[in-house]
Amino acid sequence: MKALVYHGPGAKSWEQVADPAIQDPTDCIVRVETTTICGTDLHILKGDVAAVTDGRILGHEGVGTVTEVGAAVTNFSVGDRVIISCVTSCGTCSYCRRGLTSHCQTVGGIGWILGHLINGTQAEYVRIPYANSSLYHLPEGVTDEQGLFISDILPTGYEIGVRDGGVRPGDVVAVVGAGPVGLAAMMTAGLHGASRIIALDLDDNRLEAARRDFGATHAVNSGDADWAEQVKALTDGLGVDVAIEAVGVPSTFAAALALVRPGGQVANVGVHGKAVELPLHEKWIDNIRISMGLVNAVTGDMLLRMVAEGKLPAEKLATHRFTLDQIDQAYDVFGHAARHGALKVVMTAG
Ligand SMILES: [Zn+2]
Ligand SMILES: [Zn+2]
Repeated sequence: MKALVYHGPGAKSWEQVADPAIQDPTDCIVRVETTTICGTDLHILKGDVAAVTDGRILGHEGVGTVTEVGAAVTNFSVGDRVIISCVTSCGTCSYCRRGLTSHCQTVGGIGWILGHLINGTQAEYVRIPYANSSLYHLPEGVTDEQGLFISDILPTGYEIGVRDGGVRPGDVVAVVGAGPVGLAAMMTAGLHGASRIIALDLDDNRLEAARRDFGATHAVNSGDADWAEQVKALTDGLGVDVAIEAVGVPSTFAAALALVRPGGQVANVGVHGKAVELPLHEKWIDNIRISMGLVNAVTGDMLLRMVAEGKLPAEKLATHRFTLDQIDQAYDVFGHAARHGALKVVMTAG
């Protein structure tokens, strides 16, 4: 088969590799029909994720058809259309049993293994360990593209941003960063009754999309000199109840911290590549909480129902489409997303 193989920082190629095979009775093989690129893949290509080594097939999102099942797979059969979760969970270790599947201890001590510790989904076929608890059936009425965003983006924005951020009815929420994950947080903040959802970004096109399609009620360009005052003017003057950081650089974390009101919460969703500053000498007195983490993807079934009922416009995240063998072009567009007006790029099997 063909796959997108990582060859060290800055190097990748779409090349011929061996087909994946069942290794354990809990494995499935899935033919990948729709996949995408995550900001995390760009971090990997920069060399930020040391665990990804030369020869690894990238990708942790996808929709496809089961082509082979191991003897212990009971929930899925050959021919089933499935969504691949970005988190692989055994379902039985102590972390999985308490819903913290992101720390499933069975394969490498972390739930995110696809395109990280084992070969991923930017390929014609992928092996999915612990298939019983790591795939979803693609429901009738949900398109491949809608399902694709259940792999990672929607659960990440919702679980780590909105849910773990403690958004409650009436809250004013700021989301710093209107990329795909930030938009997913905006899209799902309404599920918890946020009264105002303020989008922040440097890119006016993304801010416009945030307001038009993804539930933001207000938008502030964080390049404006008075961006913080503009946001605070949309509250009672004290700041937002929950500030969601959805970029992963020191300045956006600092922005989230600057916007949160006393008693509020900063929810960090971004994947950081270097240390951030935490001015505890100023903030200790504010009774704020800071949360962070890797998605567990345990809300995928709920989010799928909301998508199926038309309550979450997941499909609007897809802006550019390619075939799998055009993946280099897709990386180029996603890597220069602002220039191309790109949110998520979608690749489909030819
Ligand atoms: Zn991802
Ligand atoms: Zn587990």
